[in-house]
Amino acid sequence: MHTKKIVIFRASSRQEKRVPMTPAVAKKLMDLGWTVALQSGAGADSGFLDADYVGVQIDDDERVVADGASCAICFGPLTPQQYSFLPKTCAVIGLLGSDRAPDYVHSLPAYSLERLPRTSGAQVMDVLTSQSSLYGYWAVLDGARRLPRVMPMMMTPSGRLNPSHVLVLGAGVAGLQAIATAQRLGAVVSAFDVRQSAKGAVESLGAKFYHVSEETLRDKRMNNCDESAGQDQGGYGQKVGTDTLLAQQALIGGLLSKTHLVIATAMVPGQEPPVLITHSMVQSMPPGSVIMDLATDRFGAPVGSSGNCSISRRGEEIQLYGVTIVGTSYGISHMTIDASTMYANNLLAFIQYAWDDDIGGINNNLDWVKPLRLSCA
Ligand code: NAD
Repeated sequence: MHTKKIVIFRASSRQEKRVPMTPAVAKKLMDLGWTVALQSGAGADSGFLDADYVGVQIDDDERVVADGASCAICFGPLTPQQYSFLPKTCAVIGLLGSDRAPDYVHSLPAYSLERLPRTSGAQVMDVLTSQSSLYGYWAVLDGARRLPRVMPMMMTPSGRLNPSHVLVLGAGVAGLQAIATAQRLGAVVSAFDVRQSAKGAVESLGAKFYHVSEETLRDKRMNNCDESAGQDQGGYGQKVGTDTLLAQQALIGGLLSKTHLVIATAMVPGQEPPVLITHSMVQSMPPGSVIMDLATDRFGAPVGSSGNCSISRRGEEIQLYGVTIVGTSYGISHMTIDASTMYANNLLAFIQYAWDDDIGGINNNLDWVKPLRLSCA
């Protein structure tokens, strides 16, 4: 049998607090016959000390960690130097940016987990789902703590406090978890999505669903709309035309005057996020309101990138008209222990599914592996 060595480097970005391997997953891999090597301190920001990785080879030197590796796992792409230390047959697995991956990423067999099919069967290894779900949860808590008011209705001897109204833009994975979290906190929750098919999931969580209806679009002589409107074949939201976007903005504008917290998660893969809240719409929000714009926090997007609100910028917190607009950046790192744990579990599931001991590598013929491959090196 081929030797199997899996390696984990320290994150190259100081803002990345997660580690793609937990001590528990390292143990499971070692039980499966893997040698695990970790660059010292890689888990420190996630609360996992070197000493917690019992049985793992720990070294500070990237070259030593990389030596003889058959597989390297990561979040974003590794650095060119790390690549240069890895054997030419080493499989690199992570959120590599799909088509936006840097060229050097193609020099080794690379598997970009963003491309995993979004099906129930693959959910155990679906890192986008695990990370987005936590992100939606965190966004509500962070938004709620910024509000100058409570989330649930409270009947107190000092008077009745009305519940906060939360509007979630985009009812994908992050949006649905945001809805569930805001509901648990007792807020009055609404959600908006371009996909009509999101209605059932939103309503099952007890929130009100908004969508630019078929009638509205027809009345305005826009494009025809059916059940799958706004949705591509993979189930993702699609980029909408200008007329539809204006209709969406009009609908959302009507909701904002009574919204205290917006959780914005609307995204279209490979595209700039749609601008659903314009400058003038922010002005209509009650003073003290908060917009948590998660759409600014896209892979590879530089600090200052835009989101679902025309004002938000990645990594900035802007006050305007009494409204706080937060363009999140590496927000998932606030959930670093659980985000690392879920990611590591996802990767363990992927390796168990895709690694073939007889080949001594990833089996490229498997259905869920084929779309992930960035290169044939
Ligand atoms: P995403 O991050 O790409 O987008 C978030 C949401 O933004 C999506 O719901 C999308 O429809 C919405 N959106 C895009 N443009 C919009 C606009 N102009 N206005 C309003 N909303 C807009 O999505 P995601 O969270 O990665 O999920 C993608 C798809 O995969 C969804 O359909 C989701 O339900 C599906 N999914 C399925 C499974 C499964 O196991 N079956 C698991 C995870 C995700």
